[in-house]
Amino acid sequence: MQRERMRLERTRARLVREIYPGLESIDIALRFKDPGGMPASDQRHTLFAASRAFLRFPCPIASCVGEFALQAEVDRAVAERTATRVVDLRCSGVRGYTESTQTPCELVCTCTLTLRSTRDR
Ligand SMILES: [Zn+2]
Repeated sequence: MQRERMRLERTRARLVREIYPGLESIDIALRFKDPGGMPASDQRHTLFAASRAFLRFPCPIASCVGEFALQAEVDRAVAERTATRVVDLRCSGVRGYTESTQTPCELVCTCTLTLRSTRDR
């Protein structure tokens, strides 16, 4: 349900080149550190100028509906003209399928944003 909603929102998102003119691509590397010890695979996403600027990524824990929102971080990197920005985000979701087993997720995601502008060429 949550994933379906996100998929819909992605199709409605504006394009990278509309929101961040002058950017050629945004490279996003996500590394997850789970205090509970459950491994989650690293992820890598690259958004190009013609891509939808959808900067929210679902928590990789299957029972968690949390997400990592990176729009504000990309905004900041663009405003500060930093090419690489590394930030730790903590999942604010809840994991567990039933109410009695639910616990705060708190999965930590180290996000590395690499911005490439058209001027870099
Ligand atoms: Zn989570």
